[in-house]
Amino acid sequence: MTAIREYYAGMGISPAVYDYGEKVCASLRGRFAEIDETAEYNQLKVLAAMQKNKISAEHFASGSGYGYSDLGRDGLEAVYADTFHTEAALVRPQITCGTHALSLALSSCLRPGDEMISISGKPYDTLEEVIGIRPSRGSLAEYGVTYREVPLTPEGEFDLPAIRAAIGPRTKLVEIQRSRGYLTRPSLTVSRIAEAIRCVKETNPSVICMVDNCYGEFVERLEPSDVGADMVVGSLIKNPGGGLALTGGYIAGTNECVENAACRLTSPGLGREVGPSLGVSRSFFQGFFLAPVVTAAALKGAIFAANLYEGLGFSVTPGGSEPRTDIIQAVELGSEEGLCAFCEGIQAGAPVDSYVTPEPWDMPGYDSKVIMAAGAFVQGASIELSADGPLRSPYAAYFQGGLTFPHAKFGILMSLQRMTEKGLVKLP
Ligand SMILES: *Cc1c(COP(=O)(O)O)cnc(C)c1O
Repeated sequence: MTAIREYYAGMGISPAVYDYGEKVCASLRGRFAEIDETAEYNQLKVLAAMQKNKISAEHFASGSGYGYSDLGRDGLEAVYADTFHTEAALVRPQITCGTHALSLALSSCLRPGDEMISISGKPYDTLEEVIGIRPSRGSLAEYGVTYREVPLTPEGEFDLPAIRAAIGPRTKLVEIQRSRGYLTRPSLTVSRIAEAIRCVKETNPSVICMVDNCYGEFVERLEPSDVGADMVVGSLIKNPGGGLALTGGYIAGTNECVENAACRLTSPGLGREVGPSLGVSRSFFQGFFLAPVVTAAALKGAIFAANLYEGLGFSVTPGGSEPRTDIIQAVELGSEEGLCAFCEGIQAGAPVDSYVTPEPWDMPGYDSKVIMAAGAFVQGASIELSADGPLRSPYAAYFQGGLTFPHAKFGILMSLQRMTEKGLVKLP
């Protein structure tokens, strides 16, 4: 049998890179044990929800046509609602992505003359067009919904006095983004989100608190819906799909919010009653069942990368020992060659398309070239190991995912291997 160190060597990881990686891994044992315990806790949550709803083989049958009484769809939505501790949930392949789910959640609860406030500063890029911050066809602005923004404090915390002051008679909904997205601000933990929601509800209890939960699901033991959020919203090709969902999005929340969203997704009068599961139920159930441990794997990968590169003098956010509430990791490589070498390594470590070399390209909507690495089973799935970054200072790679920790570890070691081969880094 080949020793693991030689196996790595055979796959292109030099003994020096491997040994440094092992040292970093050994230093993270306590941290990884905590993550395993959170996964265990969250696994029980999902398992209990499946047992309570008596999930059985019938739920995996494929619904078609209108999808009236689609058992799989209804069972899955009950399982999501029980896991997120909400009254209801909408979990559909007809919701095409995270942006669609967020757009649906917003547009279904807001009416002409209403105002929404983002209380975590600038929202995720794609929401700018949904809201109409950048003029766009069909935006909320076109329907007479106004928008305000309360920036985070310079320390990256909610500005509670400013939030209180911003809420007015027309404020119908506040949006909170848990993950940092592609900004340098810190991600917002569930306990921080709890404080912000308390502040909003004290000011006006009827304001709807919606959380963009993308990349956050199962990272902590509590979800924003456990601390007062009326709606949590996310994508199934991120954490809750567990790597098995081929598409989809979810909204979990109060009956009122979920019913609003259903009537907007399908049609007034039809709501949740239509929308066939089209054969995806098994993968949605199974992916959700696996999601706590898949998320834990991605989280360990992020923490491994942070510590590996921090130890070599690179600036990383979050820092190697900071607490986490999402699976995103940024590593500032400091040069174009560094960023490209990093992404080439992630690509070379992938199970799919490992033989291709990622090239920087002019992506629509960006002001500089962008390089992306992804060798995924599901196109664009960022719960799978993936990295991207704009070719401008500080040349940060945004890195996330990994369906298993051994794979995340391999991809990250491969990125470091490429960096060392190009003389961009010296091992200690
Ligand atoms: C991924 C993501 C979204 C939605 O993106 P899609 O690519 O449309 O799925 C929204 N907000 C945050 C914070 C995200 O990470």
